[in-house]
Amino acid sequence: MNFLITGAAGFLGSALANQLAREGHQVRGLDDLSTGDSKSLVPDVHFTRGDVNDRPKLWTLLQEVDCVYHLAARVSVQESVLYPREYNAVNVGGTVSLMEAMRDVGVRRVVFVSSGAIYGDQGQQPLSESMQPNPRSPYAVSKLAAEYYVNTIGDLWNIETVSLRVFNAYGPGQHLPASHPPVVPYFLRQAIRKGSLVIHADGNQTRDYVYVDDIVSGMLAASTAPNLDGAVINIGSGRQTSVRELIKTVLDVTGSNAEVIYNPKMSAGVSHMCADLTLAGQKLNYKPSISLEEGLRLTLQRDSRFRG
Ligand code: NAD
Repeated sequence: MNFLITGAAGFLGSALANQLAREGHQVRGLDDLSTGDSKSLVPDVHFTRGDVNDRPKLWTLLQEVDCVYHLAARVSVQESVLYPREYNAVNVGGTVSLMEAMRDVGVRRVVFVSSGAIYGDQGQQPLSESMQPNPRSPYAVSKLAAEYYVNTIGDLWNIETVSLRVFNAYGPGQHLPASHPPVVPYFLRQAIRKGSLVIHADGNQTRDYVYVDDIVSGMLAASTAPNLDGAVINIGSGRQTSVRELIKTVLDVTGSNAEVIYNPKMSAGVSHMCADLTLAGQKLNYKPSISLEEGLRLTLQRDSRFRG
């Protein structure tokens, strides 16, 4: 098949692009390299640097494409609080530009990578797709708005759409910016360097941490599984882990005795998150297979930043 992946040079996009290329598919990747790195892509992926809002470029890249994976986005919850306009322009505007270009060229299927963040705080766990979203940050609002645009424009123009609500992804190659780093690579780096590991609030907040290879298996299934049109599907591990438990596992797998510090003044964000995977099992035959401990060990082995 012929694929276009937006955000192809990013953490999840490059893992997906490389896997599709290894399976023998034709893969084009688009990324503006604002955070991504094209060196993470295997040579078989045809990479173009560009903005997801650049429709003429999209028209060219979409020729003969069977399915688009849309991952290009700004991805930090905390940063989105400071720059909501930018998050709206890229995450919502970029999605609308892509859907318009797909309509113009006549591409038939898109897999949109959405986020578990759209659920916000809910009265019960696990979080199922039928719950009323409760986005709590401009990032979460932007992903939810993009889901609606994907569904609505897809419906109007006969484009098959699937939105995957991915929970807390981790694994080798995850971007580690100095401000607002994602929690898993941040804790791994601190543990290895014997720096301190800072826990926000009391550390009892939970998240559903899912290893990149499991996410890639869900994304792969979403391009070909039947009867998916308009579906919105959770992709997670199906387990919730508190930040305290995460730190204990990180210290175990790294063999570190780094110091753990609590910062009770920092907000914990959403209190609990755990994906209900019933629909993912039914629609995509999705079954995550990598435990947190195993995933952390694989990240240490496969990511040179955590060696030595
Ligand atoms: P990432 O930052 O590594 O990847 C995003 C990529 O998009 C980057 O390579 C960046 O350069 C590119 N990009 C940003 N703005 C662009 C623009 N205007 N035009 C073209 N490219 C642009 O982040 P990631 O973790 O790989 O996230 C990929 C997708 O998965 C995002 O849509 C994100 O919302 C979603 N997601 C990620 C997680 C997670 O935990 N990592 C969880 C849920 C959903």
